Order: sequence, then C-alpha cells, then structure tokens
Amino acid sequence: MLRFWLYLWALPVTLVGVLLGLLARSSGGSLQRVEGVLEIAGGWPASILRRGFPFSGPVAAITLGHVVLGVSLAALSATRAHERAHVRQFERWGVLLLVLYPLAGLLAWLRGGNPYRDNPFESEARAAERVERVTPQNSGD
Ligand SMILES: [Zn+2]
Repeated sequence: MLRFWLYLWALPVTLVGVLLGLLARSSGGSLQRVEGVLEIAGGWPASILRRGFPFSGPVAAITLGHVVLGVSLAALSATRAHERAHVRQFERWGVLLLVLYPLAGLLAWLRGGNPYRDNPFESEARAAERVERVTPQNSGD
C-alpha cells in the first residue's frame, strides 16, 4: 500500500517523464520497465542529455519521478544505482524536489561549491553508487 502512495506522490513529475518518454519513443528511443521504474533510452531526449545542462554538462541519464531517461541502454544500466537514489528522492519529496534540487544547488554555489557536484541530492546519489559497488544486488535471478 505504501508503494501506491509513493507512486502517487511522485506522479506529477512522473507524468512529465512519461511525456518525454513518448517523445523519445516516437523519435527512435526504446522503453523498458525495470524494478517498477520506466527507463527510456535514446530518441530525441537523449540528444538533450548529450548536449547537457548549464551546471552539469552532458549527462548519461536523468530521473523524473519514476521515469529515467538515458542516452542509451548501456548508460541506463551503468547509472542505475545513482538514478534509483533520485527516484527515492522523488518518492520522499514529490514535486517539491523540482524546487528543492535547484535551491540546494544554489546554496552549494553560494558556499563556493559547484551547484551540481556539491548539491546534497547528488552527493546522496553518488553515495548510493558507492554502496552498490561494494554490495552489488543480484538482479539476475
Ligand atoms: Zn544525479
């Protein structure tokens, strides 16, 4: 029952991701569902990710609620632990994360840091990557 509320809480952002997923699908991208998350590889959104964003530069993947958009299937696989941390952040903060994330980046920048690298939401996702490297989950069976 809790899972239902987590999906509902993140739904407004997930719907934006689904819309981008449909654009990706109509421009050659592929969709797959992995552990309750819709992963979208390639297509038009991938060109945006490759071009990058002002503070991060090019990125391999981005999370919007329960949707992860990646430049390729390999990129989705390589960034899965990191992006799942962002999924959990959307489950915790819902649509508020769309405001909190840039605010956290702004605070990091005001403190002399990098708005992307020193953003606490990114630090948490990188920590999840490290845990995954130390204790990989068995996803094969
Ligand atoms: Zn991240």
